[in-house]
Amino acid sequence: AVPLVVAKSTALSAKNGLLIKNRTAFENARKITTLVFDKTGTLTVGKFEVSKIVTLDSGINENDLLRIASALEQNSEHPIATGIMQKVKELSIAVPDAKNFQAITGQGIEATVEGKQVKVVSPGYLKEKNIASPDNFKSDAAETIVFVLINNKLSGYISLSDTIRPESAEAIQTLHNNHIKCVLLTGDNKQVAESVSKKLGIDQFYAEVLPHQKLEKIKELQDKGEYVAMTGDGVNDAPALAQADIGIAVGSGSDIAAETAGIVLVNSNPKDIVNLVLFGKATYRKMI
Ligand code: ADP
Ligand code: MG
Repeated sequence: AVPLVVAKSTALSAKNGLLIKNRTAFENARKITTLVFDKTGTLTVGKFEVSKIVTLDSGINENDLLRIASALEQNSEHPIATGIMQKVKELSIAVPDAKNFQAITGQGIEATVEGKQVKVVSPGYLKEKNIASPDNFKSDAAETIVFVLINNKLSGYISLSDTIRPESAEAIQTLHNNHIKCVLLTGDNKQVAESVSKKLGIDQFYAEVLPHQKLEKIKELQDKGEYVAMTGDGVNDAPALAQADIGIAVGSGSDIAAETAGIVLVNSNPKDIVNLVLFGKATYRKMI
């Protein structure tokens, strides 16, 4: 039987944007010492808007760059893809077909478009492949940037902006008041991660983290004695969510993340995580 106090708390949680799938996870919330946040869609709104299109190839203009990128992005469910497709719609650009579409795990996507091999990738991908990134890109890099490679030639980039959720700063502050360390773990670039971390008072950030590295980072924190809760939304986040002491899936995310996690953040709102921590503590006090 479910103890009455827990049953009540669970019902209370539903009202507060939490879906408790695993009661142990809920009860253990009072033990959290570190909260690892993903960025997009949890600390930020998760709605990317194209803010700049830069071509690095005289043979291609801005709209063409966007058009070619959109051929790939129409096959992706990443928030970056949603932002790019929105811009294409606004400009009434006809989207070409893409063949052999493939994800480059944690770094972008690739496909064949109009007979050319096209990639839309992260700054981290360029670094890994020793492709020099343009000088002027650094000043734009407090935003999310994706590079467009056509037949392995760097042809330009698209800058996208997202906004921090109004509730995020207060959520971090309250977690700090409860002696919980806040960490940002993201596949996005360093400048964006740093900028968001500074604005929100995040204690530590890891950027350009590949999916398998997310799991490693959680283990590292646990090895240091931290009791780790983690938020995540993507298929990519599932292994790390499973590794965390408490996995919190963001409501708008993938089904796999939700299946793996013990708790679902129905409205993707970081403020509800604070509720989780505070309820966990209050519930426990009532039981003892
Ligand atoms: P996170 O969920 O932490 O933002 P992801 O692993 O989803 O990280 O993505 C990491 C990076 O890979 C993105 O910031 C972007 O640079 C690149 N990327 C992923 N998917 C796409 C996509 N559909 N189009 C362009 N770039 C992508
Ligand atoms: Mg993600």
